[in-house]
Amino acid sequence: MPTTTKAPQKNKKPATKKEKPDSQAAQDLRELFEEQLKDIYWAEKALTKALPKMQKNATSEELAEAIGTHLEETREQVTRLEQVFQLLGKKAQAKKCDAMEGLIKEGEGIIEETVEGPVRDAGIIAAAQKVEHYEIASYGTLAAFATLLGEDEAAALLQQTLDEEKNADATLTEVAETAVNLEATEEDDEDEGE
Ligand code: ZN
Ligand code: FE
Ligand code: FE
Ligand code: FE
Repeated sequence: MPTTTKAPQKNKKPATKKEKPDSQAAQDLRELFEEQLKDIYWAEKALTKALPKMQKNATSEELAEAIGTHLEETREQVTRLEQVFQLLGKKAQAKKCDAMEGLIKEGEGIIEETVEGPVRDAGIIAAAQKVEHYEIASYGTLAAFATLLGEDEAAALLQQTLDEEKNADATLTEVAETAVNLEATEEDDEDEGE
């Protein structure tokens, strides 16, 4: 007779049950805002290290230049976040962003799994745009929270970064459409001709 495969259900929470907060849990919107700031602060600092690797692996000059420009902006965004912390009377503190860690890892994977040239460039653009979209979502929320909390100066700084992230995303689309994707397609045609 087969033994039962069902594990005891005693410790299993029903799926609908709400998470019980730990002692560090944010109590209000301001605390949630501050936690999210720590998250994006970690993410931006991680990007100042990840973007140079992406840039080095890009073949297209336009792409390398776009990443280089955004690297400079990213360094300024780190400083801008430090200003936001200061405006809130808080010490700048980073808390690991699991999402950005994953997005950066994916980007590194794409570089390893593509041949150098337009195909790798297309992969780098895809990875970079995923990063920008995460940042756009993050800064959109942060700017809205700051406004709700009456932190207008912080909101303006966060909005400024949001605009830069949107621009970076648009520039990557442009590089893809004008310089990279067509060449990547041509490579496919060459392969077929062999
Ligand atoms: Zn960012
Ligand atoms: Fe950024
Ligand atoms: Fe995050
Ligand atoms: Fe960005």
